Amino acid sequence: MEKIIKKIAVMTSGGDAPGMNAAIRSVIRAASYYKIESLGIYRGYQGLIEGDIVKMDARSVHHIIHKGGTILKTARSDDFRTKEGRKKAYDNLIEHEIDGLVIIGGDGSFTGGMIFNEEYNFPIIGIPGTIDNDIYGTDFTIGYDTALNTVVEVIDKIRDTASSHNRLFFIEVMGRDSGFIALNAGIGAGAEEILIPEEDLAIERLLVSLENSRRSGKTSSIVVVAEGDKTGENVFELAAYVEKHLPQYDVKVSILGHMQRGGSPSCFDRVMASRMGVKAVELLIDGKTNLMVGIRNNKMDTTELERAIKEHHNINSEILRISDIMSV
Ligand code: ATP
Repeated sequence: MEKIIKKIAVMTSGGDAPGMNAAIRSVIRAASYYKIESLGIYRGYQGLIEGDIVKMDARSVHHIIHKGGTILKTARSDDFRTKEGRKKAYDNLIEHEIDGLVIIGGDGSFTGGMIFNEEYNFPIIGIPGTIDNDIYGTDFTIGYDTALNTVVEVIDKIRDTASSHNRLFFIEVMGRDSGFIALNAGIGAGAEEILIPEEDLAIERLLVSLENSRRSGKTSSIVVVAEGDKTGENVFELAAYVEKHLPQYDVKVSILGHMQRGGSPSCFDRVMASRMGVKAVELLIDGKTNLMVGIRNNKMDTTELERAIKEHHNINSEILRISDIMSV
């Protein structure tokens, strides 16, 4: 017989993302709706190991839906990578009589959760929270839409100065392994070129394209570069190479960095996080475990954690085609 879920806990783990608070709120409110007790675990797995756990209820999550970051804080935990660390985590879950755990984080957090489930058969549900949108099993991750809006807003501003000075800007955005932010924000901001890890645009082609743009009358240009793009050693070397070969351009580099993680979540992220939080609680109530909640074609969906970790969320080829056509 399935165990009746009487008490659940929620944590945020790995990198923070705007909208995590909306997901925490949703998990706690859904638990309250279903008459389940709930606890919040501070600082992800490290807080679980150290017993940094507090009782929460529907009222403890008021006025947080609009806030960036995570009220539960987040952390990376080396202790959780050890058997001893995970044993302490398990002991704390038992001590607090917790029957199920919702983990809001990225694929590293899900890997930890899956290993923990294998060892202790403890019910785990994952909610994808990362600005990179690089998780298989969901069209969107929490924080991605907000990050896109932030990047577009900043590129719009950089374009003002680029066009006033006839400059060529290389703008580096987050995405070590994935080009979702670069590609979509690049299209949204009207970038001339977009460089992403998934596609290898040879540097010579970039030079030709920029030179053609200049000849066709463009006096300033924006090139959006994902952190993980392999065209140059890094964005500064790439910019130096282009400046050397296209001396007509005044080349500048701008690295957007951590501002992309911050800020008030977009309405899209808030609504999606609210839907995912409710679904996560309902899955635990239904006796499900080792699943990640996702959204596909605007419908709630679930994916085995193992698949979510192992498979790749591919860039939509239609978006790539649009980007090519727009840079004509
Ligand atoms: P982001 O995508 O923002 O980086 P993430 O969830 O992938 O988020 P990670 O730092 O990779 O972030 O993982 C978060 C935590 O999950 C780690 O600090 C660690 O405690 C735990 N974790 C990751 N991989 C493992 C593993 N193989 N075994 C045990 N725990 C793990």
